Amino acid sequence: MSHARQCSRTTCYAPAVATLTYQYNEATAVLGPLAPIADPSAFDFCQNHANTLTVPHGWTMIRLADNFEPPARAGEDEVMAFVNSAAEEKLTAQEKAEMSRARRAHPSALVPRPHLSLVP
Ligand SMILES: [Zn+2]
Repeated sequence: MSHARQCSRTTCYAPAVATLTYQYNEATAVLGPLAPIADPSAFDFCQNHANTLTVPHGWTMIRLADNFEPPARAGEDEVMAFVNSAAEEKLTAQEKAEMSRARRAHPSALVPRPHLSLVP
């Protein structure tokens, strides 16, 4: 993805996985999953820096997750698996039988997938 953001640490070029926002008045920092839109007043951190981040003395850090993972393609695969299973639910028993016959005959054949577009 060309719009992937990088860690805010100046010497770090790892992809950002978490976003830190803060309330200066309340000396509170909140570290949560990467914000979908880059916020100029927030900081993005990579997995390593997000997990090791500390706040200045007197500040409170609220972590919305214990460990931040990159927004992996696995998430997309899960969506596709769900969509595929939902699509198969709608098939009649005969269509399912035909599909499993086709799978046995051509194990490498791809099951037709419904067109899916992810809305950001
Ligand atoms: Zn970093």
